[in-house]
Parts: sequence; C-alpha cells; structure tokens
Amino acid sequence: LNEEAYKTRFEPAVTTDGHHVEVMANLTAAKGVEKAVELGCEGVGLFRSEFIYMDHPQEPTIEQQQAEYARVLDGLGEGKPLIVRTLDIGGDKPLPYMPMDEEENPFLGLRGIRLSLRYPRTLIHQLHALLRAAAGRPLRIMFPMVTDIQEWRDIKALFDQVVADYPDAQVELGIMIEVPSAAMMADIFAREVDFFSVGTNDLTQYALAIDRGHPELSRQADSIHPAVLRLIDTTVRAAQQHGIWVGVCGELASDPLGAAILTGLGVRELSMSTRAMARVKAHIRGFSLTQTKELAQRALAAENSAAVRALSVNREADHV
Ligand code: PEP
Ligand code: MG
Repeated sequence: LNEEAYKTRFEPAVTTDGHHVEVMANLTAAKGVEKAVELGCEGVGLFRSEFIYMDHPQEPTIEQQQAEYARVLDGLGEGKPLIVRTLDIGGDKPLPYMPMDEEENPFLGLRGIRLSLRYPRTLIHQLHALLRAAAGRPLRIMFPMVTDIQEWRDIKALFDQVVADYPDAQVELGIMIEVPSAAMMADIFAREVDFFSVGTNDLTQYALAIDRGHPELSRQADSIHPAVLRLIDTTVRAAQQHGIWVGVCGELASDPLGAAILTGLGVRELSMSTRAMARVKAHIRGFSLTQTKELAQRALAAENSAAVRALSVNREADHV
C-alpha cells in the first residue's frame, strides 16, 4: 500500500461520497517546506516556531524571524495556507533570554501563551515578523495553551495594536484546543476566533492526567481515548454552530483509525508529520463520510481506548 499511497500523494483525501479532508504538514523548521510540498501537503497546518528561538543565544531579531516565515510562505506558494503557531515554550523547555523560575509542575506552569502574556514584547516582535513576512499574503496565526477567554482577549488586543501598522494584512486568528477547559468552553471561544486546531498530544496529557513523556505511563496516553474524542466532539459541535472550522494537528491526525474517526466527527483539516500524509490520504479515500460518522459514533460510545482500538472498521473500498 505504501508505494501505492506514494503514487497518489498529490491527490486530495476525498471520501467515496465526495467529502474532502485537507491534509496538511507539521513543520518544525522552515527548511522542511520543500519536502512537505513534494510529499503532497495542501498547506502547513502547524508550523512550530520554537526552533527559531531555541537556535539563538538571544532573541532573534525581527528580520531573522521574518526570513524564516517568508521562506515557508515562498516554498508553499499561492493556494497552500500556512498556520504559524506562536512561541510555545516554558516549563520544561527553557529559553536563556526569557526569565523562568524553576517550577514543580512545569506542564501546569508558565508555558505557551501564559509565558507570552507575561513577557509580551517577544510575542509582539513575533507578530511583527509574521506580518512583514506575509506582506499582504494570506496567513493564519494560532496561539498555544489557551485556557481562558480572557487570555484570548489579551492576545487579540496585542494583535490589534500590531496589525494597525499593516493595513493590507490578511490574517485569520485561531487558537489551539489542547487544554480541556478550552474544549469544554469551545462555544464561548467560537464566537471570537476564526478557527480551532486541536492539539491532541497535550489535550490527552491533560484529560487523562498522564505526562506525555512519562517513561512508563505515556503508552497509556492514547489520544483515541473516548474522553479525548468527546472533548473533540464538543469542540467541533461548538465550531459548527458558529460557522468556524476545526483542524487537528496532534499525533491522532496521523493515526489511520484516528484520522477516520476525526473525519466522522466533522474535523475539516488534519495536520501531521510529512511522512504520514500520503498514507492517511489513501486511507481516508477508502471510506464514505457516512461510514466515518458511524465509526465516530461508536468510538464516542466506547468505554476506553482499548475498546475504540478493537472496533471493526469497514471501509467501502475494501468491499468491492
Ligand atoms: C499538541 O499538543 O498536540 C501539539 C500539536 O503541540 P505540541 O506537540 O507541539 O505540544
Ligand atoms: Mg501542544
């Protein structure tokens, strides 16, 4: 199948009844963009901007940052959207030029947007770099670890100040849904943001209370757990009610069963490591949307991850 999948990597993931799921690339460095295009991405659904900061002994200049983002936009070309996630560090991932106290529970501490709001200058610089790199081209920006609507409003106020300098900016703003509170309050967020991107890695860690890097327990932190799926279902329903779309950029998007269930839940876009894209596309093409919806309903009703993994999966393509 893998060779077969590779051959059809530029064909979109369209179900047998004509429903299109966008398959996008996760990037951790600008230099990965050519490979992502060559492997059939329809855009970049998660550009982890951390590396730009980690690679420098002090905060990179706006010009240095701008060059990285421009490189990704140029590499993608017109019609392939780019979603950049703002700096997501803190706790276990320190930066020498950002003051951080040692914390007892870094995953529950000053990380992601919490850190950016504490030291907003860095975020403001990043937003300037992004808007300059876009130079009027469409761009999507999203913010990590948002927990409470007030955080979003604080970020939005910062963004509005910055964007006032760029009258031709074409930006959509989204938030990561990776904290259970954000999933549960998705209806509140959906009134104010343009899109959601579900980070199933952190969402699973926080929903199941299992450290995602734990040497012994992390295998139990399967994102296909119905508890996680129910949070995603809540998120998608809220989004649909308010006319915004939902993507998934955590590992679950690249899991064949996960991708099918997410499609059935109404997720529009799946973003994943570049080597998984062709396989996931080929897999989705074997289903009808109706089948994925039935599968999703059975998964939501299952008692735990093992029960979801044990579900029998009927692909229309496998019957003919
Ligand atoms: C996630 O949490 O699922 C995610 C995509 O972000 P990261 O893995 O970078 O924390
Ligand atoms: Mg995350």
